[in-house]
Amino acid sequence: MQRVDIAVVGGGIVGLATAYALKGAKPGASVVVLEKESRVGTHQSSHNSGVLHAGVYYPPGSAKADLCRRGKSMMERFCADHAIPVDQNGKLVIASSEAELGRFEALVERARANGVAGLAVLDANQLREVEPHAVGIRALHSPTTAVVDFGLVCDTLAAGLDVRTGVSVTSLDEAGGRVRLETTGGELEASGAVVCAGLWSERLAARSGCSTDVRIVPFRGSWIALRPAGAALVRGNIYPVPDPAFPFLGVHFTRRIDGAVWAGPNAVVSLSQPALLARAAAFGGSWQLAAAHYRTGAVEVWTERNTRALLRGMRRYVPELREEDVAWETRPFGVRAQAVDRRGRMVDDFVLGEAGRVVHVLNTPSPAATASLAIGESLAAVIAAAVP
Ligand SMILES: Cc1cc2nc3c(=O)[nH]c(=O)nc-3n(C[C@H](O)[C@H](O)[C@H](O)COP(=O)(O)OP(=O)(O)OC[C@H]3O[C@@H](n4cnc5c(N)ncnc54)[C@H](O)[C@@H]3O)c2cc1C
Repeated sequence: MQRVDIAVVGGGIVGLATAYALKGAKPGASVVVLEKESRVGTHQSSHNSGVLHAGVYYPPGSAKADLCRRGKSMMERFCADHAIPVDQNGKLVIASSEAELGRFEALVERARANGVAGLAVLDANQLREVEPHAVGIRALHSPTTAVVDFGLVCDTLAAGLDVRTGVSVTSLDEAGGRVRLETTGGELEASGAVVCAGLWSERLAARSGCSTDVRIVPFRGSWIALRPAGAALVRGNIYPVPDPAFPFLGVHFTRRIDGAVWAGPNAVVSLSQPALLARAAAFGGSWQLAAAHYRTGAVEVWTERNTRALLRGMRRYVPELREEDVAWETRPFGVRAQAVDRRGRMVDDFVLGEAGRVVHVLNTPSPAATASLAIGESLAAVIAAAVP
C-alpha cells in the first residue's frame, strides 16, 4: 500500500488550490491529488462563466464575502505571476423597472458593506456610457469585476503538483490516526485527507460513514453564444438584479476572456446524474425545494426551449439584439453542485467541513472559482493543524 502525508480528493479548482496551499503550509510533506477523470478541472471548474467576482452579492461576514474578496486578489496575483490573461472588463447590475429598486438599493448597501472597490450607482444615461447598447433605470457599476479562464488556472496549478488522474476514490476510512483510501488504482494510506469532490462530495462523505445534513442537487446551467454582431453590443458583463429567494444570479451577459459573449446560464435540475438524483429524491429537503420552486423551475425549463422568450429576456437589457445575432445552436453548459438542506433550502454559503483527519468540503458554489485560492489556504490550515 502506498503512503502519503495528505491526500486531496478531486482535481477541480478547489482541490488543486488546497494542494497548492499545502505546499506552503506543510513544506516537505507529500501531497497527492486524486482525480477520477483523465485530466483536471473538467467539471464545474472549466464549465463556468469565468467571472472573477468582486464580492457584490454576499452577506457581509459570510464565508463567501470574506473568501471571495481575498480569493480574487490572490487569483489576480497568481495569474500575473503565471502569465494567465485576466481582463478587468467590469460589470453592471441593472435595475430595469421601478419594482426592482428596493432589491437594487439593498444590493448596493450590501456591496458597499463588503468593501467592493470602485462602486458607482449610475442613472439611465450614465449606464450607457459604460454599456452604450444597454438599457435600465439604474445600475450598479463594479469596474473591478474581471474574467479569466479558470480551466487554464487549473492546468497551471496542477503543473506544480503530484496529480494522479484516472483514479477514483470509492471510500475513505479513518482509524488509528491514519486514513485509508480505497481507490480504483488500489489502496492508499494518508495522515489526512481533504475531499473536494463537487457533485459527488456528499455521496463520498456518506460512503465513508460521515453523515451530513445536506444532499447535492445537480443544476444544469446553459449559455447561448452571441454572433459577432450581437457580441459587439456588449462590452463587459451585464447582470439583472438578483432574486434573493434564488441563489443563482439570473441570466446575464458575460464577455469572456476569449472575447466571445455568452448569455446565461439558466438553472434547471440536471437529469444526467441519475445516481445523485436518486439520493436527492430520497431526502425530504429535495421535495420541499421542489414544492417551493416548481413554478420558477417550470418557467426555466419552458424558457430554455423557447427562442422568443429567451430573446425577450436578453432584449430587456440589450434591446437592439436581433434573432440573427444569437447562435441558437451553440449551447455550452455546466452542472452546478448545489447543496440543499433538510428544510428544502438551497445552502447559500460555502460549507468547508469540520476539522479532523478527513475534511469533507460539501458546498462550493459560485464564487468558489474566484475564491478558490483563499478556500484552499483555509482548508490547508485546517488539515495542517489536524495532522501533526
Ligand atoms: C454554470 C456555472 C457558472 C459558474 N460561474 C462562475 C463564475 O463566473 N465565477 C466563479 O467564481 N464561479 C463560478 N461557478 C462556480 C465554480 O465553477 C465552482 O464553484 C468551482 O468550480 C467549484 O470547484 P470544485 O473544485 O469544488 O468542483 P469541481 O470543479 O466540480 O471539481 C470536483 C472534482 O472532483 C472530482 N471527483 C469527484 N468525485 C471523485 C472521486 N470519488 N475520486 C476522485 N475525484 C473525484 C471530479 O471529477 C471533479 O474534477 C460556476 C459554476 C457553474 C456550474
